[in-house]
Amino acid sequence: LSQIRLFGLDLVSGTTAQVVHDLLSSDTPRRVAFLNAHCGNVMAKDTTYADALSTADMVLPDGIGVELAAKFCGKRFAENLNGTDFTPALLRAAAAQGLSVYLLGARPGVAEEAARRLCLSIPGLRIVGTRDGYDGMADEEAAIAAINAARPDILIAALGVPMQDAWLARNAPRLTARITMGVGALLDFLSG
Ligand code: UDP
Repeated sequence: LSQIRLFGLDLVSGTTAQVVHDLLSSDTPRRVAFLNAHCGNVMAKDTTYADALSTADMVLPDGIGVELAAKFCGKRFAENLNGTDFTPALLRAAAAQGLSVYLLGARPGVAEEAARRLCLSIPGLRIVGTRDGYDGMADEEAAIAAINAARPDILIAALGVPMQDAWLARNAPRLTARITMGVGALLDFLSG
């Protein structure tokens, strides 16, 4: 994997397969964020969010805006790594290794439906819990306790930008999942 520096951040340049392998073979916890053009705008106004991105273990280039920004600097990402394609690829590899997954975020019922559909499309996928991103997040202690009690290896947080990345950064010391990742509206998308 190599890195391309854009917007003051080191973005990862690599193929989906390389990044998935790197994440799943890591011994240390990894917090992953996706950066698209919208995130760049939010970052300029929200220092908590900007800090969450600059302290993330991996920032992945998501979308044409980031690709163009690299091009203006004479650089090129190996692959565009948007959450919609990358996350299922990560979960397929996770399923093959028997790793467990927790789906956090979106309106009540959405994560459950996304889980049902993911399990149909990825045989062997172990989803050990779901929790909505509204009432389910009201009591932060309860949310963290419930997530940790399910013992997921991977925590997928679909709470939107900037909340998901700020939340994962702030609570990183208390979350036991080995990989945490903010994925925007992915659960809405997956649930149909
Ligand atoms: N969301 C949530 N809790 C909140 C706000 C948003 O779970 O307090 C969810 C929302 O239901 C949606 C996702 O976060 O599934 C992403 O929302 P949005 O489209 O606003 O974010 P983006 O895709 O721009 O990151």
